[in-house]
Amino acid sequence: AVRVRFAPSPTGFLHLGGLRTALYNYIFAKKHQGSFILRLEDTDQTRLVPGAAEDIEDMLEWAGVPPDESPRRGGPAGPYLQSQRLALYAQAAEALLKSGAAYPCFCSPQRLELLKKEALRNRQTPRYDNRCRSLSQAQVAQKLATDPKPAIRFRLDGEVPAFQDLVYGWNRHEVASVEGDPVILKSDGFPTYHLACVVDDHHMGISHVLRGSEWLVSTAKHLLLYQALGWQPPHFAHLPLLLNRDGSKLSKRQGDIFLEHFAATGFLPDALLDIITNCGSGFAENQMGRTLPELITQFDLSRVTCHSALLDLEKLPEFNRLHLRRLVGDETQRCQLVGQLQALVEEAFGSQLQDREMLDPAYVERIILLRQGHICRLRDLVSPAYSYLWTRPVVGRAQLGAISEKVDIIAKRVLGLLEGPGTNLTQDMLNGELKKLSDGLEGIKHSNVMKLLRVALSGQQQGPPVAEMMVSLGPKEVRERIQKALC
Ligand code: GLU
Repeated sequence: AVRVRFAPSPTGFLHLGGLRTALYNYIFAKKHQGSFILRLEDTDQTRLVPGAAEDIEDMLEWAGVPPDESPRRGGPAGPYLQSQRLALYAQAAEALLKSGAAYPCFCSPQRLELLKKEALRNRQTPRYDNRCRSLSQAQVAQKLATDPKPAIRFRLDGEVPAFQDLVYGWNRHEVASVEGDPVILKSDGFPTYHLACVVDDHHMGISHVLRGSEWLVSTAKHLLLYQALGWQPPHFAHLPLLLNRDGSKLSKRQGDIFLEHFAATGFLPDALLDIITNCGSGFAENQMGRTLPELITQFDLSRVTCHSALLDLEKLPEFNRLHLRRLVGDETQRCQLVGQLQALVEEAFGSQLQDREMLDPAYVERIILLRQGHICRLRDLVSPAYSYLWTRPVVGRAQLGAISEKVDIIAKRVLGLLEGPGTNLTQDMLNGELKKLSDGLEGIKHSNVMKLLRVALSGQQQGPPVAEMMVSLGPKEVRERIQKALC
């Protein structure tokens, strides 16, 4: 059975790069009726960020790609938090010590620091010199007497296995000559990434490891660990990086790549899933507007290429508009949007909502249907330009009189116009009729008629086209606002 995992370290909140890795795992799992597992790699206790673990799980739920097994949900292969699995890592380290594939290292932090400094001075990559590899059993016993909890290192030798990555093809990395033997278990009993990852992927029954390409080189080490432990390794598929459109790294410092940010500013999860898959590979065609079920059926791992995915976040509003329109077209979803917009209106104008009529579901729904093509996010409908939709202006007769002395006759004609064609107002029709109306009034400029209407309807000098406002408000509301302004 297909079992895949997303294994972030809770050292930061979930951002678009992480979501992309999670999403590819999710759609691969669902495509193959498999399971998607969330495992939190919290072994570096010094780098934990408070709230990050909760955020990662919350945001996966929000994005619509919830794990089947996770710290919160539990599952048959738990616990899903590495800090709660220390016994398993100790057990594996013990087995490796026993077979001679690992050895205790008594080097002091000072010595390691010196090695590092020296290498940097010589412009070389710091590399452990494997000194403790050659300790005799007697030396080890002697050192254990004064240092009973040494770090454990993995002996990186033997044939480095070549492996076929499902994205990058055949790979072979000579890790041993570059890095020296890595620590797999620290003296405090916590594992390092390599051991923890291999032990967990094995015990959790992971069939495919889909992760960022920055881990491609580490895979050689992992394969050596699988070999030494006598375990069958999973398949590997490394995913190319997600970069900004100009090829620069997605910066977490920009703050606007975190999912929290998109959720708080009213973007739809579907729009995010669409844009981060649209810029990458894995599909026969590049097309905008795919939904999650479509992503699942159309995804094909063999179509993922090793080219970096370039993300153009400036296109996100356009993606959002597309998905918003799709939701509006679905009756059940539209109902939910009505509720959401009502809440947004209350939040934005609560204190000014003298009249609950503006929250009437039928009215709110009509506004959504009318304006959907003109907005990117639902909340754009509560921006200042649209405040006239939700609050009635306080306009005095004097204000209208200042625009034109003929305010009464203009108002009378406009009211007459609204009685005629009934409820079926359209912008084109209104533009034509209003022009005719101005032409029919001697000594009155069309621009003044429009200005007068704008002020009567919104209390503002500027804003959306007058005919648009009239269509949105509907004839009854327009009539009432005009009559009220005349008092
Ligand atoms: N904890 C690693 C990370 O933060 C996981 C790498 C992997 O998937 O093996 O990316």
